[in-house]
Amino acid sequence: MNVGIVGGGINGLCCAWLLQQQGHAVRLYERDRLMAATSSRSSKLLHGGLRYLENLELRLVREALRERDAWLRRAPELTSPLRLVMPIYRDSRRQRWLVRAGLFLYEHLAGQSALPPSQWCAPREMLASDPQLRAEGLLGGYAFFDGQMDDRRLGLWVARQAQEAGAILGEACEVRCVDRSGRIRLADGTSRQHDRLINVCGPWAEQLLHQSGIASPYHLDLVRGSHLVVDRACPQAYLLEVPSEPRIAFVLPWQGKTLVGTTEVRQSIDDPVACADSERNYLLAVLRHYFPGQDRTAEVVETFAGVRPLLRSATDPTRATREYAIHRDSALISVFGGKWTTACALARRVAATLD
Ligand SMILES: Cc1cc2nc3c(=O)[nH]c(=O)nc-3n(C[C@H](O)[C@H](O)[C@H](O)COP(=O)(O)OP(=O)(O)OC[C@H]3O[C@@H](n4cnc5c(N)ncnc54)[C@H](O)[C@@H]3O)c2cc1C
Repeated sequence: MNVGIVGGGINGLCCAWLLQQQGHAVRLYERDRLMAATSSRSSKLLHGGLRYLENLELRLVREALRERDAWLRRAPELTSPLRLVMPIYRDSRRQRWLVRAGLFLYEHLAGQSALPPSQWCAPREMLASDPQLRAEGLLGGYAFFDGQMDDRRLGLWVARQAQEAGAILGEACEVRCVDRSGRIRLADGTSRQHDRLINVCGPWAEQLLHQSGIASPYHLDLVRGSHLVVDRACPQAYLLEVPSEPRIAFVLPWQGKTLVGTTEVRQSIDDPVACADSERNYLLAVLRHYFPGQDRTAEVVETFAGVRPLLRSATDPTRATREYAIHRDSALISVFGGKWTTACALARRVAATLD
């Protein structure tokens, strides 16, 4: 089949790679550069999403954990196992037994994983590996493993695999409208016909349908997430409770510096995607809480932001599902949502809807 794909983020690229390998003739249209939008603004984690267990997203977490391990095997030069620690304090919202139960379930859902099991760390051990960590009230913490990647480089590696298999990946090719028969109209006025057309535009998937005059079967909530890059080596990766909120923040080693994220702020599709001062201050406050006595404001060397395409499911973005949905309407297949880690699984499900 002749398959058109609109969107050159990780989900579009994984679809292109898989479908070309399956013998289809794939042409991908990306309006900007490949991997220039959401897929290069992530927290760089290949993970099941320990936090999503609180929303009972068992199917998604199980799939993501297996995909995490598959990425670590598939591209060992561009990924690495990452040891994260979740400290537990006297006043932590999540008590030791709850975190332990969550990790038990997380590891059970992962199945046969090559990653080491989680373990309890005593305060002395934690402070020895990171003397900057707040010691007051520290009861200890759980160490567990997920994966880390360079999202942009890994996505461009997927693009190369797709091209080597024969897929045509077009940059600076904006699609103005699509229809149910598989026809597209490009910004330069030309049209092309495909046997199947996949709309995998991430946060813009609903907008593309809207501008094509097609009612969208799903609605997306667009929720911005920002990160800070702090010019300071990070001796230990952390999963941290945001003080007095149910949210979780990450402090991660990243290219010799420290990556701190993230936020959840509603975003309008037409507004520029950038870290606001309030988000910067929010993340700096998390750092100040856990690493007191140091003001890292002057050490912020970069900020970046991306927009999560979340299926509309809850008013509170922290509670909103991270599941994705695939909808077929004649020759047109639209994808709504989808994590970085699960992009290959999403591509397999798209492939199954093609015939
Ligand atoms: C702050 C943040 C942190 C995250 N952290 C993680 C994480 O650590 N791990 C994880 O697994 N997931 C993470 N995610 C989720 C993950 O990054 C996204 O869900 C995923 O990257 C979405 O990929 P995509 O290909 O669907 O969308 P995108 O990467 O946005 O790609 C869509 C592409 O479509 C193109 N496009 C749009 N309209 C058109 C058009 N009309 N014509 C042509 N092209 C068009 C856009 O230019 C864009 O390149 C995070 C998300 C955010 C926002």
